[in-house]
Amino acid sequence: MISSQMHISGIAITLLRKPIKNLYLRVSPPDGRVSLSAPLAVEEALLQAFVAKRLAWIKKQQAHCQASPPRPPVQQLISGEELVLFGAPYRLVVVERYGRHEIIIENNTAYLLIRPGTTLKNRLKVVHDWYLTELKQRIQGHLDHWQPILRVQVREWRVRRMKTRWGSCNLGQKRIWLSLHLAIKPPDCLEYVVVHELIHLLERYHNKRFYGLLDQFLPDWQGRRKLLNL
Ligand SMILES: [Zn+2]
Repeated sequence: MISSQMHISGIAITLLRKPIKNLYLRVSPPDGRVSLSAPLAVEEALLQAFVAKRLAWIKKQQAHCQASPPRPPVQQLISGEELVLFGAPYRLVVVERYGRHEIIIENNTAYLLIRPGTTLKNRLKVVHDWYLTELKQRIQGHLDHWQPILRVQVREWRVRRMKTRWGSCNLGQKRIWLSLHLAIKPPDCLEYVVVHELIHLLERYHNKRFYGLLDQFLPDWQGRRKLLNL
C-alpha cells in the first residue's frame, strides 16, 4: 500500500493506493479524518474530481463526527485522578477495604471503595454501574416530568454504551435509548436529549415541525446542545 496526502478545497485527504478495483471514500470519527482508497493505476486528476463531487457529503459526515460523543478519557481509576459526574469534577480517592464495591460522594471528593487488588477492569465496572444508577434516576425524573407535558408515553427506555450518538428513538416500538456518556455531561444536556428523543415520538424527522416543538417546549435547547458537544 502506498500512502500520500491530497488537498482539495482545504480538506486534507489521505490517499491509499491498493490493488483494488473501486474507489472508497471514508470519513472517520472522532476527528473526521478523510481517506480515499484507490486502485494503483487511477490518475490523480480523476481522484480529485471524484472527491470534489463529494465535498458536501464529506462536510456532512465531518459535522456528524463532531456531534458524536467523544471517546471517554482513558482512566486508571487511581487516587488523584478526576471523576466527572453530570459535568461536575470530583477528586478521586481510592479506598481499599473488604466489603461491597461502591462510590460515595462527599463535597468535592469521590471515594471509590473497593476490595484490595481489584483490577482496572472491575474498577471501571464499578464506575459504569454508578453512572448507570445515577443516570437512570435522573432519566426517570425527566420522563415523569416531560411525558405528561408532551402527551407521549414511551413503552421502554434504556441506557446503552452508544459510541456515535447521544440518544435514539424507535418510533414503532416507542422505545428510546440514551447514551451512558451522558453521565459525564452537565444535567441540562441530559434533559435536552430526553426531550429531543420524546419529541421524536411526535415527529420522526428533524424538520421544521420538530424544531418548532423543541422551541416551544425547551426554548434554550440550542445552548444545551452546544454544551453537549463541547
Ligand atoms: Zn433526533
